[in-house]
Amino acid sequence: MKNQYLIDLLERVKARNAGEPEFHQAVEEVLESLEPVVEKNPKYIESGVIEMLVEPERVIKFRVPWVDDNGKVQVNRGFRVQFNSAIGPYKGGLRFHPSVYEGIIKFLGFEQIFKNSLTGLPIGGGKGGSDFDPKGKSDAEVMRFCQSFMTELSKHIGADTDVPAGDIGVGGREIGYMFGQYKRLKNEFVGVLTGKGLTYGGSLARTEATGYGLCYFTDEMLRDNGKSFKGAKVVISGSGNVAIYATQKATQLGATVIALSDSNGYIVDEKGVDLDAVKEIKEVKRGRIKEYLNYHPEAKYVDGGCVWEVKCDIALPCATQNEINEESAKKLVANGCFAVAEGANMPSTPEAIHVFQKNGVLFGPAKAANAGGVATSALEMSQNSQRYSWTFEEVDAKLKDIMVNIYHNSAKAAEEYGMKGNLVAGANIAGFLKVANSMLAYGVC
Ligand code: GLU
Repeated sequence: MKNQYLIDLLERVKARNAGEPEFHQAVEEVLESLEPVVEKNPKYIESGVIEMLVEPERVIKFRVPWVDDNGKVQVNRGFRVQFNSAIGPYKGGLRFHPSVYEGIIKFLGFEQIFKNSLTGLPIGGGKGGSDFDPKGKSDAEVMRFCQSFMTELSKHIGADTDVPAGDIGVGGREIGYMFGQYKRLKNEFVGVLTGKGLTYGGSLARTEATGYGLCYFTDEMLRDNGKSFKGAKVVISGSGNVAIYATQKATQLGATVIALSDSNGYIVDEKGVDLDAVKEIKEVKRGRIKEYLNYHPEAKYVDGGCVWEVKCDIALPCATQNEINEESAKKLVANGCFAVAEGANMPSTPEAIHVFQKNGVLFGPAKAANAGGVATSALEMSQNSQRYSWTFEEVDAKLKDIMVNIYHNSAKAAEEYGMKGNLVAGANIAGFLKVANSMLAYGVC
């Protein structure tokens, strides 16, 4: 970065948010991308818009006490970062994972601003969660935790204010418990959460949306560069909701998905992953990916290994932040991988992205590539407002359109600002402009 204003601003962000490296990483990437934009349009500096953008509008942090199955009191921390509401109500998921602290929620909330803007739908950026670990907890414990979490969160959210959804550790079960508690506390049946069950206001295709959207985006990126999913070997990290539906759509588009992982290790099945087995293990039994061998003893399980060592044409990281470092990126390149698209949030380190870009690997950044989940959440909000629901085909068609547009808008913005082919810059710029221009209209506020 050469622009002195942006360099100084980044230093201030780091000093003001000490000990939050993930947030620094997310801000640094965006500020770098904005360099050509501010050089051309000094108004974004003079108006203070960028300075306002890197400071959350509101950070809510609260105690979440609950009682476990042994009658013992447990205390977790809850967060909601209402980052930016320039273009719509705060929107973004809740993450329940032991690694959650303010810095993780701030990085996710910041990313969400640009991602949500890219969808073209009227949603601002927010994120929340807790350091609660749902792994190994009974349904009753998860319910008591969710009810306690919502008892506080309900004071800060609303269908036109802030609409949370799921993320890592928060799926249909958790959304159900939280929606039930919200309804009970407020005596209101409104679309205050998305990712709801189909019997109480959920949208068809929301479950599939992030994984499907990732593949629609990747398909368009491949097509635009004379390549395709057909006949390609794909490695996907993770085995949760995003990974499962990315596997399904990539397979439908003609690829063979040969590997999936979890935090303990990875499986390789050269015939193509058997998704019914994975769904049963993860969605029904809430088990570990190594149980895949009970269904397919001929497959391979590598305990503690890194899934990026598996040779592939296309890599879709769908697990968590910074899961691809420089070494893994080099391995992928050496093995002939020609495209990477991010289903998780910020799964590639800056060094890894650099390796991909230097080696001509097509790279679809998270903000653009995984926006299908939140886009379909916004479609769920529209259906809730209408008190009406669309068919699976209608929602899926809108999702596909949105992802194709995100690809082209990002590619176009990159080209306009002299960075043709750099979708990282293009997505940041295209996402930024809509939010920044709205903030300009509001003045200092
Ligand atoms: N957690 C998802 C994301 O990272 C979805 C958020 C939502 O649906 O609001 O975008």
